[in-house]
Amino acid sequence: MPEFIGFDSSFKDAGTVFLGIPFDGTSSFRPGSRFAPQAVREASDGLETYSPYQDKDLNDISVSDYGDLLLPFGNTGKVLRMIEDKADEILSANKKLLTCGGEHLITYPLVLAYLKKFPGLKLIHFDAHTDLREEYLGEKYSHSTVIRLLTEHLAPADIYQFGIRSGERFEFEWGRKHTNFFPFTLADITGKLKNISSQTPLYLTIDLDVLDPAYFPGTGTPEPGGVTFSELLNSLLSLSGRNIVGADVVELTPDYDTSGISSITAAKVIRELALLINQ
Ligand code: MN
Ligand code: MN
Repeated sequence: MPEFIGFDSSFKDAGTVFLGIPFDGTSSFRPGSRFAPQAVREASDGLETYSPYQDKDLNDISVSDYGDLLLPFGNTGKVLRMIEDKADEILSANKKLLTCGGEHLITYPLVLAYLKKFPGLKLIHFDAHTDLREEYLGEKYSHSTVIRLLTEHLAPADIYQFGIRSGERFEFEWGRKHTNFFPFTLADITGKLKNISSQTPLYLTIDLDVLDPAYFPGTGTPEPGGVTFSELLNSLLSLSGRNIVGADVVELTPDYDTSGISSITAAKVIRELALLINQ
């Protein structure tokens, strides 16, 4: 299988491990994000390893492409345990994790693993959706409940949500009351995070449906009214100099991506994140 461009370090030498988690077991509308890790690896072949935005090159950092987790079907609980175990293993080797889903529920076990290592962690969440439901169709573990699930382990005041533009009324009310809730926009992230010190460990979870479907049609629950690629990129670059300890990129669904542009966009976000978290 092709590896992501420039992610050619050995595990031992890597500062960051890139891991594919091809799980879409709870996707509600249009499944298929399990095919995303392979699609971004193929799309990355069309990218350069050099980022002119950051004036850095993937060849100057050490990232290892770990491949994909092999996961069973139909047993969400087991899948979540397997993801957490693998994350524990990689974090205990003192590597950062850069993960490509799969659906957004994968963030739950990843952040649980991170909280064991970084108790003061703050979560930065980009998404079109609040993901604050208590259950979806009777299921507590779902990609539409993932942030709410994490509030059982992480104070809602340590969660920062950006770009949200869809959800039920009670989700918006709950978010406005409990999390740091910034709907519709990614503007002025620097100002909104100004009370967080530059040493504080940050985990970024990027649900790519935060992008407008015009820029990113290949996703399971597209939501018009989103941000441009440049807005997403600039908001990520505004986190430069902060202590980003890990990141995930979720909800690319390549089968709805007839031109291939969404996979290329996801690959470019992953390249920029790899350079950002290896400062
Ligand atoms: Mn979403
Ligand atoms: Mn989401």
